[in-house]
Formats: sequence, structure tokens, C-alpha cells
Amino acid sequence: MFEAQPTIGGGARSAELTLPGFVHDICSAVHPWAASSPAFAGFPLAQHGLEWIQPPLPLAHPLDDRSAAVLARPLEETCARLGRDGAAYRRSIGTLVRRWRELAPMIQAPLVRAPAHPWLLARFGALAFWPAAGLARRLFRTEAARALFAGNAAHSVLPLEALGSAAFGWVLAAAAHAVGWPIPRGGAQAIANALASYFESLGGRIAVNSRIQSLDQLGDASLILCDVTPRQFVAMAGHRLPDRFSRKLEAYRYGPGVFKVDWALSAPIPWKAADCARAGTVHVGGSLDEIAASERTLATTTASDRPFVLVAQPSLFDSSRAPGGQHTAWAYCHVPHASTADMTERIESQVERFAPGFRARILARHTMTPADLERHNANLVGGDITGGAQDLRQLVLRPTRLLYRTPLHGVYLCSSSTPPGGAVHGMCGFHAAHAALKDLGTA
Ligand SMILES: Cc1cc2nc3c(=O)[nH]c(=O)nc-3n(C[C@H](O)[C@H](O)[C@H](O)COP(=O)(O)OP(=O)(O)OC[C@H]3O[C@@H](n4cnc5c(N)ncnc54)[C@H](O)[C@@H]3O)c2cc1C
Repeated sequence: MFEAQPTIGGGARSAELTLPGFVHDICSAVHPWAASSPAFAGFPLAQHGLEWIQPPLPLAHPLDDRSAAVLARPLEETCARLGRDGAAYRRSIGTLVRRWRELAPMIQAPLVRAPAHPWLLARFGALAFWPAAGLARRLFRTEAARALFAGNAAHSVLPLEALGSAAFGWVLAAAAHAVGWPIPRGGAQAIANALASYFESLGGRIAVNSRIQSLDQLGDASLILCDVTPRQFVAMAGHRLPDRFSRKLEAYRYGPGVFKVDWALSAPIPWKAADCARAGTVHVGGSLDEIAASERTLATTTASDRPFVLVAQPSLFDSSRAPGGQHTAWAYCHVPHASTADMTERIESQVERFAPGFRARILARHTMTPADLERHNANLVGGDITGGAQDLRQLVLRPTRLLYRTPLHGVYLCSSSTPPGGAVHGMCGFHAAHAALKDLGTA
């Protein structure tokens, strides 16, 4: 395995970005997809040092009236907290939660495949197909339920008026009930380290500081799996690719970027709503209308003045992340593709709005623009953390109708630009490996 950077892990790395003793997740922090992944379930990662921590609440979503909408692991607790909307929520999501173990492998696989449970997938599709904003307004009457759904749907990095944006709202909520939104003890790097340790135990070798610029560098390797996005693949292999395939890859669309902030804090974030202090993740952005307005700016060139901010606070539940009594917090917001806007002030204002006194607790901060993220990991093109826009078309034919295969014998794509797309789950590599084994006649 060749890794361009000096350290392994790509989007699952941790480092002391601010002050000594404060360990920050540079990219991924919270892992419902890893917890749902059939690939990871098949690896002995616990034996290789990976330990999951489940915060008491997967998610809280503060509102301006000092309350917070809450996604609790027990479905019934969430329904009770949603009050008037509890019944509609249960009716919609109940089956997805109960049958998560059957549903998750189907949505973590190419959607063009014949599903193992067609009725279940059709039921999910009937909920998932819609624009999140319209669906939330139709299904729910309270601001709390609408905001909670909108925050989850915004993980699609699509405008909430886009078809298919609702899918992310359902999937992340169902995963919270079924498997939680766990964080790894010690940080996301622990996932990469466990995978690397298992890989090496099987005889694999990893060379860091080894950027592959051209497939020619790999000599006559019989099987090559490329964890790169289409643009990089064309640069590496373009001279060998049929023009038609290169043009298809060049037409692949990248999505919006993100702006990231990490803080070292003297004390926990002083949320007005007490529930936020029990949650691993806090969605900061207020009402459905506000979140929708923020996400609409992604299709423009101007970043939102009041961004929707995703906050994780791992040190509340994992003391290895910061020196005694002190804390880390992780946050990002979506911005237009390759935006150069400095979002630090806007992100901190949003947190301060729901946690007055937050700024006074900041000991140090570290920020990353989309360009910084791309320097850190070449797969984050223009700051796009999902390996390409995740609209309906690109979710199905990702990146082309060949999916993992390329016209080159023995050469496969396995990045998040293949199904099922972004997040730490290993399923792009899992399906690419299966395609390769099938072509070799060994699967
Ligand atoms: C700020 C941020 C927050 C995120 N939050 C979450 C989260 O909370 N939960 C979650 O599940 N996901 C999250 N993600 C998404 C997640 O990190 C990615 O979807 C995931 O890491 C993709 O995994 P991958 O193995 O396909 O690629 P990557 O993790 O991107 O790894 C690709 C690797 O390939 C290397 N590489 C690229 N080109 C070359 C080359 N030419 N030669 C050699 N090596 C090369 C890169 O350096 C990198 O190490 C986040 C991402 C970011 C950036």
C-alpha cells in the first residue's frame, strides 16, 4: 500500500493540531457508518486496538428557546422527546431501525444491484427520494422535529430542496437508534491504526511518503486498487485510458467543500441546553429554515453568513483526548466548492449563540480551508469530503456505469468516488476487492 502522506489514515487521522496533549481528529470524528459496515464487522479490529465509545446521546440540536431536540439511542425515548411528532417519526423510521442489519448492507452497496430485501429497500426509497426540507415540513409539525431531521439531512452536502437529500436524514437517524454514533478511543487515527495493524498481520506492507503519480510506477503489478478520485485517476492513468472513459471521468462532478475548526478548550462548551453536554455530536444551525438557507448557498460562490455547523465534543467521553479537565472540540461547516472564505468567526458566532461564554474558553484553535484539506489529502478535491457530489445520479452511477472497474485490466477504483460514497466504512474498498476477485475467478 502506497500512501502519499507521512502518516497513514487519510480521512481518519488524529494529531495534536493546537497544543501539546490535545488530540484532534483532522477529518472524521463520529462513526455511525463504521459501526454499520459489513466490511469492518468482518475484521478483528478490536484485537488490533480499536475500542468504540458510545456517548450517552448520539446527537443534540439546540434551539433558540434554550431547549434541544434530541436523538437518543432508544427509539421510544426519541419519540417521547419529539412530543406531537413522536408518532409520525416512529411510523416513518420504525421499520428502518428494526431491520437496520438488513438495510445497511443494501445502502452500503451499489444501488444498481438486485437488493436482497426488495420490499425493505423500496420502503426506504419511498422515504429517501424526497427533498428533505419539503418532507420535513409535510411530516412534522414542531420546529424541533423539523430541525433535527434537517440537520441529519444536511450531511448529504446537498441543498435540502434537492431530490434524495432526505435519504441522509433517515439513514443517520436510523443508524443512531440501531448502532449509535460511536467515537474511537484515542481518536479516528485508532481506526486507521487498527486497519493497518490487521493488514500487516496478513503480510501487507505500507510505504508512507510514497505518492503515486503514474500507474507506470507500479510496474507489472497484477492487481491495482486506486483510492483516488476520478480527476487524480485520469492524471495517473490517462495515457492508457480510452478517450471516451477519460472524458466520462473528467465530467464527474465534485461537491461543495468544508471549512474545519478544531479548538483546545479550558472547559467543556457551556451549552444553554443541558442535553447538548451529553451528546457526542451537536448540530448548530437553529431551525429547518435557517439550515436550508445555509445549505442553499452551496450552489453559489458565497458562503453562508449563518452556517450550519457540525460540532463533535469527543473529550467529554474520552479522557485521552485532552489534559485533565481540559477539552477538545471539532467543527466544520459546508462552503461552496474551493471557497477561500475564512469561516472561523461565523462558526464561533453560531456556537456562542447556543453556548454563551464559549469563546472565553478557547485556549487555541486550528483552522483548515478547502485548499488546506486538499493539501492534507489529495482526495479532498476543492474541500469536497464525500469524493464527489452525492446527488441521485452520482450515487447510482459512481463514478461511471462501470463503478469499481476501469477499462484497464487489473486496475480498479476504490475511493469514496465509488459506491456507497463518503464516510469511514471501508465499503468502497470491500466492493472493489470483490469485483477484482470475481474478475480473477476466485469469488
Ligand atoms: C473534515 C472532515 C470531516 C469528516 N467527518 C466524518 C465523520 O465524522 N464520519 C465519517 O464517517 N466520515 C467523515 N468524513 C469523511 C471521511 O473521512 C471519508 O469519506 C473517508 O476517509 C474516505 O475514505 P477513503 O479510504 O476512501 O479515502 P481517504 O480516507 O481520503 O484516504 C485516501 C488516501 O489516499 C492517499 N492518496 C491520495 N492520492 C494518492 C496518491 N496519488 N498516491 C498515494 N496516496 C494517495 C491520501 O493521502 C489518503 O491517505 C470527514 C471528512 C472530512 C475531510
